[in-house]
Amino acid sequence: MPPLEIAAIPGDGIGGEVLDAGLRVLEQVAEIQVTTFPYGSAYYAEHGAMLAPDALERLRRFDAIYFGAVGSREVPDHITLWGLRLAICQGFDQWANVRPVRFYEGLDGDPSLDWVVVRENSEGEYAGLGGRQLAARGPGNEVAVQTSLFTEKGCERIMRFAFELARSRPRRHLTSITKSNAQQYAMVLWDEVFDRVRADYHDVTTDKELVDAAAARFVLRPQTLDVVVASNLHGDILSDLGSALAGSLGLAASANLNPDRRFPSMFEPVHGSAPDIAGQGIANPLGAIGSGAMLLEHLGRADLGDRIRAAIAATIRDGIRTRDLGGSHTTAEVTAAVIARL
Ligand code: ATP
Repeated sequence: MPPLEIAAIPGDGIGGEVLDAGLRVLEQVAEIQVTTFPYGSAYYAEHGAMLAPDALERLRRFDAIYFGAVGSREVPDHITLWGLRLAICQGFDQWANVRPVRFYEGLDGDPSLDWVVVRENSEGEYAGLGGRQLAARGPGNEVAVQTSLFTEKGCERIMRFAFELARSRPRRHLTSITKSNAQQYAMVLWDEVFDRVRADYHDVTTDKELVDAAAARFVLRPQTLDVVVASNLHGDILSDLGSALAGSLGLAASANLNPDRRFPSMFEPVHGSAPDIAGQGIANPLGAIGSGAMLLEHLGRADLGDRIRAAIAATIRDGIRTRDLGGSHTTAEVTAAVIARL
């Protein structure tokens, strides 16, 4: 088999540290050819743009994109996010953001819990529609409008994706996150599409939860969850809550998938650039390493993904942990421990 062609974008802060760790693990189990792209806040400072004009054209030919994190104190978050991460997600129609929440043996949570948050990743609250300074009201009178966009097709494709995923898992349960009591247009459409689509999946049990009640349920009745499907904003928030409950934001892996496979998909840890710990060699690399496992799974090597996940679990069980998990091991020590357990 030819080597897997991977575009690596370390980005900012701890992004490079955890991505290096992930690549070191990947190269142990698969033949990979890595091309690194310098996009991030430093690139912005030099070029006035987060991405080169031909970036998407160049990234397009890779089998997958492996991303670290973006965000810095020097560049506003909305510029780094829209200019890089969302430009790639939307440019490559990576409409399914899959965020598994794993509870590992040896940490505080219940290891029998195992959830996946499926987040709509192309429209909804992050559609980027709106404006400021409407009708030139000026300082002190400013008006901002941020519009959500929900399409029937966009809702349907993410829900079918979530149903298929739920169907492949032992529990076969899907929870739809809504807010149709307050958002009477978009979220009512969301609910109606869910009701229509679920008729095609009699083998999957379902329920619906208002997003505020869902936050409480994640904490108080976690055993009732399996796969969760949510809009862009709701999925973003609930998956961070989930990974914090599982032990640390540093553990959470994610995939931004273009399930149609017309474009490459992108794999990245859920956490951000963590400027407070950047450069110290203490970032937890397991979210990035787990994202590498998802990358291999997407490219047809689920067996290798499972091997990596088993090594992550064994590393945690053996007490080799970074500071965010209550340990004192470095990024390099945890990475070496994962490699030793592959
Ligand atoms: P950004 O602006 O890039 O989102 P942030 O600091 O606002 O950065 P995160 O990077 O997600 O958001 O970090 C939130 C908190 O979690 C920080 O205190 C950070 O140190 C911690 N954290 C995030 N990722 C990790 C990790 N991999 N290992 C250890 N701690 C982490």
